[in-house]
Amino acid sequence: MYGLRFKLSAVFLGMLFLMLVILNTYPVIITQSQIVNAKKNDMQDKVSLLSATLASLPELSADKISPVIEILDLDSANGRFIITDTSAEVIYDSARISYLGAKIAVLPDIVKALSGYDVFRSNYKDGVFYSRAAAPIISSDGLRGAIYYYDKDLTEGAFLRQTQNDVRKMSLATVLLGALGVASFSVVFGKRINGLLNGIRYMREGEYSHVIGMKGKDELSEVAKEFNELSSRLQKTEEVRREFVANASHELRTPLASIKLLADSIIEAKKINVKKLREFLTDISDETDRLTRITEHLLILTRIDSSAAGEFKSVDLKSVVEKTVQNLEILAEQYNVKIYTECSGGCFISADPDGAYQIVSNLLENAIKYNRGDNSHVIIRLYLNEDDVFLHVIDNGVGIPEEDRTRIFERFYRVDKAHSRETGGTGLGLSIVKQWVESFGGSIQVESVLNKGTTFIIRFPGVKKSGASI
Ligand code: ADP
Repeated sequence: MYGLRFKLSAVFLGMLFLMLVILNTYPVIITQSQIVNAKKNDMQDKVSLLSATLASLPELSADKISPVIEILDLDSANGRFIITDTSAEVIYDSARISYLGAKIAVLPDIVKALSGYDVFRSNYKDGVFYSRAAAPIISSDGLRGAIYYYDKDLTEGAFLRQTQNDVRKMSLATVLLGALGVASFSVVFGKRINGLLNGIRYMREGEYSHVIGMKGKDELSEVAKEFNELSSRLQKTEEVRREFVANASHELRTPLASIKLLADSIIEAKKINVKKLREFLTDISDETDRLTRITEHLLILTRIDSSAAGEFKSVDLKSVVEKTVQNLEILAEQYNVKIYTECSGGCFISADPDGAYQIVSNLLENAIKYNRGDNSHVIIRLYLNEDDVFLHVIDNGVGIPEEDRTRIFERFYRVDKAHSRETGGTGLGLSIVKQWVESFGGSIQVESVLNKGTTFIIRFPGVKKSGASI
């Protein structure tokens, strides 16, 4: 398996290689073809000029041609002119002026020129351009011979060679720099990826406190930041879970310990009268009720977590309030608390019907339980304001101290533990209320004055009777 580092480095080096191949060939080819074109123009100009001048001579001989070459300034160290007659016999050769014997120049370029064609060829080898141009000499009487011009150019060749060498050196330097860049990128990149991998492994082992330190402002640091955010959230969730499990175990253990103690007392008692026995059994029954209430509340909390908005129905909150009041009337009588309702019709919310009942019921039960004795009352107010449904549960009871107001919605949190226990509280009622309210898209607020009373205000998004939003 090839790692990401290897793949990225290979792609980069591959691209660099391709770029250098292009850089090493294309400009050289272009320069070469420009040089050849310039040479072609120059040599063909010279050959045509010479051809036209020689065509006008009455006779073609070495003596006559030599001054023409001189006058036209065509003599050069690296050039060679050969002039032949129509049968390719050399009349003049700038390289061998003294040569006067007959010689047939059977060069293919001369043969072609004698057939009436202009010829040009050039090739580049080892820093030298070898070029040939040939043309027929045609006067009004017809074909009189051919001109062959050979040129060996070292200057342009050297220039091209120098350019090639320079490009090669630059390419080598680029490759070295590129390789160095790739190597350092690979090391840094590898370290950062390993940092992320280690973080993920720590998290897999449940070590949520591990923080990935990553400098920079690129995508990898973004990933590290998101990862740290995620692990800190998981850490918080884990803390909440642990605390909840610890609290739940404690809450369940207390009634179980009482039951065990009471049962053991009955078993160990040598003599026990019926009255005492009944008393103990009543206590056992009460503790069992408590256990049942706690487990029921825990089950409700689990149900809220898994409830989905798609399963909610349109619930008429007014009828929920009426049903709750009816069910808690006996409790209110026991505590000598009067209940007043001020409910408008048409207050529909999208909710789980059991959840809606538990909200009103838990709030009303608390308002009844935490009263201050004489002249205690509870007001339940329900109304529609614009698109929202508002539910107020107002009591004139003991009130909630300011420092506890933000914590009363936590699971198992109680302000007055003894009173809550006495009245059969589990410390889960308000957290059930808050969770249901939020799952219905609403919000809850509490206002309270110590020894004066408490008001819970809940806002729900209202819906039409059919369930659609208002
Ligand atoms: P509990 O089962 O103990 O009533 P809750 O979650 O319903 O648990 O309430 C948490 C705590 O908030 C209660 O123990 C009580 O101290 C306080 N509380 C709730 N409602 C009221 C209220 N209407 N008046 C005064 N205190 C209240």
